Amino acid sequence: MTEHSTIERANSQDDFLEEAGRILGKKGLVTDADDIEPWLTDWRGRYTGAARALAQPADTKELSEILALCSRLGVPVVAQGGNSGMVGGATPDGTGTALLLSTRRMNAIQVDADTMTATCGAGAVLQTLHEAAEAQDMRFPLSLGGKGSATVGGLVSTNAGGTQVLRHGVMRALVAGLEVVLASGDVLDLTSHLKKDNRGFDLKQMFIGSEGTLGVVSRVVVQLSPAVADRRVVIAGIASAQDARRLMQHCQSAMADALEGFEIMPQSCLDAVLDYLPDAQAPLEGRHPWYALMEFVADKEGADTLGDQVEKVLMDAFEAELVSDAVIAANETQAEAFWQLRETISPAERAKGPAMQHDISVPVSKMPEFIDAITELVHAEHPDHEVAAFGHLGDGNVHLHVIAPPGSDTRTWEREKGKAISAQVYRAVTDWGGSISAEHGIGQDKLQVLRDTYDPVALSVMRKVKAALDPDGLLNPGKLV
Ligand SMILES: Cc1cc2nc3c(=O)[nH]c(=O)nc-3n(C[C@H](O)[C@H](O)[C@H](O)COP(=O)(O)OP(=O)(O)OC[C@H]3O[C@@H](n4cnc5c(N)ncnc54)[C@H](O)[C@@H]3O)c2cc1C
Repeated sequence: MTEHSTIERANSQDDFLEEAGRILGKKGLVTDADDIEPWLTDWRGRYTGAARALAQPADTKELSEILALCSRLGVPVVAQGGNSGMVGGATPDGTGTALLLSTRRMNAIQVDADTMTATCGAGAVLQTLHEAAEAQDMRFPLSLGGKGSATVGGLVSTNAGGTQVLRHGVMRALVAGLEVVLASGDVLDLTSHLKKDNRGFDLKQMFIGSEGTLGVVSRVVVQLSPAVADRRVVIAGIASAQDARRLMQHCQSAMADALEGFEIMPQSCLDAVLDYLPDAQAPLEGRHPWYALMEFVADKEGADTLGDQVEKVLMDAFEAELVSDAVIAANETQAEAFWQLRETISPAERAKGPAMQHDISVPVSKMPEFIDAITELVHAEHPDHEVAAFGHLGDGNVHLHVIAPPGSDTRTWEREKGKAISAQVYRAVTDWGGSISAEHGIGQDKLQVLRDTYDPVALSVMRKVKAALDPDGLLNPGKLV
């Protein structure tokens, strides 16, 4: 890699397209504006950009050559996987100078039963990886609502979390090896996935969560787990967020690793989902301030006893007055229906009207107290606003939505109240020792918030790393750093 590249500016867009076309061939370079247009707006519809073309390399070699060309001609590059990110990270700016680079053709998956790993092209879709692992009696233990679109490269680049972090950790914990193409076009092969390897820095960790600003991920080796032989999905009604945490501790101490997911939602989120999904049913009779959705799993050895263990844990929880009601899914269809209630909260909340959404974390032990404190803080100034905190209580991470009163105009409300409310939330999160981005990343959405709230020393280190790897600032400009 050269320290500082000398950029020959492209004489014209035509020069660039001619050379890019030679590298990528017909299938690999899209120049028709109508074909590019669907990829220029982010998932949440908050950002729309422009691109000079859409590149779709077929393999690492093409990816390397196209990045070398961009480096030589000074063309910015925005990597995009499934475009399911929540912070506008995969959307180029509006100038039309950037090349949008999609990994979707690099989607091969090779499962190795012997090492219990899968080697995936960056564009492999999460759901397809789940199916490939299941076909060989294994599983990839990371799942999230966008699994039908999110790609392995995107999951790595955002260090995604999801609903199984409690037991298996975030993407960072599941990556065994990585291949990355640098801005210069050089290929950095970190796929050896040795159990022990002390040759200095763990370079792959630097690229995980770097949102396409340090290199473009081309291949990923992920660690698989044994298939689940049985699972029990439970919904419980709970009096308070504090009780939800106590219930989680109770389940963990009784069943240790069997508790794979622990999600919470308030009654208002369930109401929104039931309005949004006409065929969905309330899981419990009556209304409860909070609900916990729990998933317990067992492999072959533990499968025979899982059901009895879960029943006992719930009976004990009743006796300890941690839950007011609970139901265990009777079959897989009902288990999926329970998860659907959880996974539909985001679209259901969005249908209610304008909201400021915050993906935040604080230390796990403080989360219940934080939810109460932040609700009180927002209501003190905005008593007519709804505060809904839902999600991954077990990870100290909730999605905190502050919803405008019905009938509010989105732009006016965001300008006059929403932005100030978000600033208040992020200040509180920082004061409580938390993070303004738990699992969605920074993208363009939180760039300013990161600058305003993060440790200046940490920011300076990040900028130095960026400058070393991408001296001309061509990789995903305007995002993260
Ligand atoms: C319904 C729904 C539910 C979700 N739930 C969760 C959740 O529970 N937890 C969670 O963590 N996320 C969640 N997400 C967010 C999303 O799925 C993740 O951010 C995902 O990791 C992004 O993958 P992607 O392939 O769509 O990436 P994109 O959106 O295409 O890109 C995301 C970022 O990664 C960069 N990037 C993409 N591919 C590469 C590559 N090969 N090399 C370098 N950079 C790259 C992009 O430039 C961008 O900065 C959810 C999304 C949806 C739609």
